[in-house]
Amino acid sequence: MDADLATRDVVLVTLDSCRYDTARGAHLPALSALGPLQRAESPGTFTLPAHAAMFTGFLPRPVEGHFEIGGQRLGSIWRSAAARARPLDGGIAFRAPSLMDHYADQSYRVLGAGGVTFFDPTNPCNSLPTRFSEFRYFGRDAASPADAATRVVDREASLTLAHVDELAQACLQARRFFCFINCPCTHIPYTSPAAVLTEETTTLLERLYHLHDAKTPHPEHRPPLEATETATLRDMQRCSLEWADARLGRLFDHLAHRRPLVVVCSDHGEEFGEDGRYGHGHPHPTVTTVPLWCGLLDR
Ligand SMILES: [Zn+2]
Repeated sequence: MDADLATRDVVLVTLDSCRYDTARGAHLPALSALGPLQRAESPGTFTLPAHAAMFTGFLPRPVEGHFEIGGQRLGSIWRSAAARARPLDGGIAFRAPSLMDHYADQSYRVLGAGGVTFFDPTNPCNSLPTRFSEFRYFGRDAASPADAATRVVDREASLTLAHVDELAQACLQARRFFCFINCPCTHIPYTSPAAVLTEETTTLLERLYHLHDAKTPHPEHRPPLEATETATLRDMQRCSLEWADARLGRLFDHLAHRRPLVVVCSDHGEEFGEDGRYGHGHPHPTVTTVPLWCGLLDR
């Protein structure tokens, strides 16, 4: 293992709800330059458990059994003392209750940014943002009504990756940093500057939110969205992922001279009616299979 892996600055990014096959079909120059796209399996089916696991070092696990990082194969990137040893282990061993505690103990600046409502620090029930000494939240108010008017919206300022210059600046002010960024652009409603609403997609998204909220299979497993409608919505996720790639490329340009370790993955995917259900929070392969890239920036 790269002897200095444990002392590198760290960037950990989650592309919320992004499906593995969306990543396979997208043009992603910044992420491709970081490392190969790996198919991984998430231990969580929705934001809270997936991030709780990641923050304890349990990343989505590549199905090949190892992480491809800087030309090497590792069984894990971080290895909590609470975990059983695995073949090819060699990741960064730590004994603290979370990655954030571990890096804070090493005098890193630990900062996070989020955009989905599980990261809204004004909601006293949200534990995820409290794990950071500094947290920036750009998403909608978690207490706002969950209706079409607040959810089916065009987005830019509420997307974390619209703020990469500010986030990079905060990182670069520190002697060492651990920076976590949760990206909501690939989460329903899949809008970003590269995927703006039309009359057609507004209606489709309103229907999709109802299907997400139902949480139950459609009778007789007949998806209530037509294949062409699903394709339109999935194309929005791809466009917003490509926008995320461009913004991450800008972030990497800012930070590359610090040679950080970078991990980018989804927290979970999304079912689009393949077996009758929509959304996430249930253990369907379209939900548990996620894209993952990792690498070392060395420009
Ligand atoms: Zn999520």
